[in-house]
Amino acid sequence: MSIAENINKIKSEISTSVKLVAVSKTYPSKIVLEAYQAGQKIFGENKVQELVKKYEELPKDIEWHLIGHLQSNKVKQIASFVSLIHSVDSLKLLQEINKCAIKENRIIDCLLQIYIAKEDTKFGLSFEEAEALLTGADYKLLKNIRIVGLMGMASFTTNEGQIKQEFNSLKLFFDKLKKDYPEFLFLSSGMSSDYKIAIKEGSTLVRIGSSIFGRRN
Ligand SMILES: *Cc1c(COP(=O)(O)O)cnc(C)c1O
Repeated sequence: MSIAENINKIKSEISTSVKLVAVSKTYPSKIVLEAYQAGQKIFGENKVQELVKKYEELPKDIEWHLIGHLQSNKVKQIASFVSLIHSVDSLKLLQEINKCAIKENRIIDCLLQIYIAKEDTKFGLSFEEAEALLTGADYKLLKNIRIVGLMGMASFTTNEGQIKQEFNSLKLFFDKLKKDYPEFLFLSSGMSSDYKIAIKEGSTLVRIGSSIFGRRN
């Protein structure tokens, strides 16, 4: 199937209240352009350098999301244009994003990345760490960032029950926080292998790469 067919198939499977982030990492700009021409306007990258390059090469109405681990010293490279950072996992990073956002005279939307997998290879905050960050005095000082939800990745496993349970724990935490933080609008969960489970468990933002662009090398 073509990229356009893949996008249309996924869009037909997800409800209109779920946004699709096309994860274009490792694919060259001319392939990304195919997806853009098929109507896709939100793209996700996991590396700063690659994100900057594609931002420069591709149409300016694309909404770019950073979905991978972000080092503080690289924030300034994307601060002028990034639409949403999914992978905030420390106060220090949030402070740096705020500082760069002030220089760019804008507010940068962020998600807190929550550790839900039973693996030790994934980045993220525990539920307790996320709550401590949100209720802390340091966070309240940051006027140029806005935390608009959570992101999580399930374990890399074929055990669907486990994946469902992990996404469900994230959704329960999200709903709990939403009571105090009405600006929480996005729950970013689900990739090619598990987005159908994620949507059943409340995802509003799915990050899909290989099911659109094909398998990466
Ligand atoms: C690569 C990546 C995805 C997309 O993975 P696919 O399996 O290709 O859909 C989603 N989220 C993050 C954080 C990624 O790094």
